[in-house]
Amino acid sequence: MRQRPDWDSYFMEIAGTVKKRSTCLRRQVGAVMVSERRILATGYNGAPQDLPHCSETGCLREELNVPSGERHEICRGLHAEQNAIIQSALHGVTTRGSTLYTTDFPCSLCAKMLVNAGVSEIVAERSYPDELSKEVLAEAGIKVRRYGNETPGC
Ligand SMILES: [Zn+2]
Ligand SMILES: [Zn+2]
Repeated sequence: MRQRPDWDSYFMEIAGTVKKRSTCLRRQVGAVMVSERRILATGYNGAPQDLPHCSETGCLREELNVPSGERHEICRGLHAEQNAIIQSALHGVTTRGSTLYTTDFPCSLCAKMLVNAGVSEIVAERSYPDELSKEVLAEAGIKVRRYGNETPGC
């Protein structure tokens, strides 16, 4: 008999599909905001709507070889998690008590936003080098879970 994916695999596979839309030159990230096993919103990283992407304009982080996890402010892109929160706001959907499935552990900027968006759980596949992010999420009491073999945030 065909094997059905469990819920974690289901949402994480969708996040993996979402991230293919990313235009970031460095790291493609997909996020899915879920509540009661329903998708509220999705997001991938890239430039604001209708603006040229880093792939067209070039990205200063790429040009300056900025290490992963640093100096996000010099890139024109929004992060996947930010776009998922913004999409929820745009459509008037509450993110309170939701679970965020993301291909990559959130950076500290996103972590702070996820705290105030009322997200209660984060499931991440790949790690991300950002110590503050782990601290913020732990202090806020957000449940963090690993998906797959890699430990998030390590
Ligand atoms: Zn960029
Ligand atoms: Zn981020």
